[in-house]
Amino acid sequence: MIVEKLQPVLDQVLLRNAGEPEFHQAVREVLESLGPVIAKHPDYLEHALIERICEPERQIIFRVPWVDDKGQVQINRGFRVQFNSALGPYKGGLRFHPSVNVGIIKFLGFEQTFKNALTGMPIGGGKGGSDFNPRGRSDGEIMRFCQSFMTELYRHLGEYTDVPAGDIGVGGREIGYMFGQYKRLTNRYEAGVLTGKALFYGGSRARTEATGYGNTYFIQSMLATKGESFDGKRVVISGSGNVAIYSVEKVQSFGGKVVAMSDSSGYVVDEQGIDLELLKQVKEVRRSRISDYLQLKGSQSGAYFVGAEKGSIWDVPCDVAMPSATQNELTGKDARALVSNGVIAVGEGANMPTTPEAIGIFRQANVMFAPGKAANAGGVATSALEMQQNASRDSWSFEQTESRLAEIMRAIHDNCASTAEEFGSPGDYVLGANIAGFVRVAEAMRALGVV
Ligand code: NDP
Repeated sequence: MIVEKLQPVLDQVLLRNAGEPEFHQAVREVLESLGPVIAKHPDYLEHALIERICEPERQIIFRVPWVDDKGQVQINRGFRVQFNSALGPYKGGLRFHPSVNVGIIKFLGFEQTFKNALTGMPIGGGKGGSDFNPRGRSDGEIMRFCQSFMTELYRHLGEYTDVPAGDIGVGGREIGYMFGQYKRLTNRYEAGVLTGKALFYGGSRARTEATGYGNTYFIQSMLATKGESFDGKRVVISGSGNVAIYSVEKVQSFGGKVVAMSDSSGYVVDEQGIDLELLKQVKEVRRSRISDYLQLKGSQSGAYFVGAEKGSIWDVPCDVAMPSATQNELTGKDARALVSNGVIAVGEGANMPTTPEAIGIFRQANVMFAPGKAANAGGVATSALEMQQNASRDSWSFEQTESRLAEIMRAIHDNCASTAEEFGSPGDYVLGANIAGFVRVAEAMRALGVV
């Protein structure tokens, strides 16, 4: 429930951003958490502080023309929403997926602002991308698209202004092509303008792994509060991209067994435990579909594939669920199936993958629930470490970088847990994350005046 004093803020957001349901959902969730903090500190209602937090500082929408392999001209739409720079330069990934529109980028930028605040690092919030569909495109087409996209975007970026990274459909290859074009256009080797770079031209060790590892660390801390651990647990991880793959790696190192993974075409169940090397072969080397995992695993293995139209990955019984594909992928029906199969913890690797109804069901069933803006913050935190290394022209070891990541994730967990307790809802990580993130952004905005 949203408190009465904040209802006009939400009404205004709904009116001003018509037809953007994901953005409405993200704002509503944060405003619903702020009741206790407003009761304790009514001064946050002054100077339209909360209204300003809900309004992006700048939104850029642009045409991206490019030529495909058949010589045909294609047009896509590019976006960058620079949401909030009270804590530092705008920071947040670029998403290339046909579903991308301004509402989705706005919801992601809004979430990113609080997530970045939770890391404790000097980074503001932003997000961008395009409705370009990379699936089935040749390497040459991907490069030409990235170059055209950057030809407009570069003028809005800078290591002290706005620093994008990857997200769905944008990995090391795309970051490389965009950095190449940025360098050419600006005639500057400004390594800190993009993160997620490869190691040989300014990337950080452990950045590729950071989001999946980070979510696993967060869940580990959450399980520990109940005397539990990953050891011997059955785990289901949706998606099979960057976040999902490195979640598998870390869960396995903690003794957990990942029994199912997916992509948009369906899911694979492997009761022996997902074979990480085969998974990487399918997804990172062949850039193929998750169903091809079975081909590599062999027909005798007992592993099987279920098409997306036939069932949901959340029907597979597990102790820990890690939704790591996309927004609103885990519905109320899925949550009921997970609860009846005995799930004890859910950690969001993706951004807002769990619907509000599903979160309510987990809450009622006392399932530990880690919201994405806290649990998947390891990616952006390590991006900030990449910026630090670029600024000092340094390169840290994997161990050094991963131990900083683990430390940051522990701090985010403890901050969310203690904030939830302070505001009367122990164990409510959604409330804890929203309030802790909000307070840091709000304090900075207040100090900077009405800008
Ligand atoms: P990738 O592009 O590497 O992988 C995305 C995976 O999710 C693919 O397996 C994809 O399947 C699946 N997927 C995407 N859209 C859908 C859909 N509509 N239905 C079902 N499956 C879908 O992206 P990432 O792993 O980088 O990102 C995954 C999530 O994590 C996103 O929500 C992202 O915002 C979030 N995130 C990522 C961070 C990062 O560092 N990369 C940081 C923080 C959050 P298919 O190939 O079939 O489309």
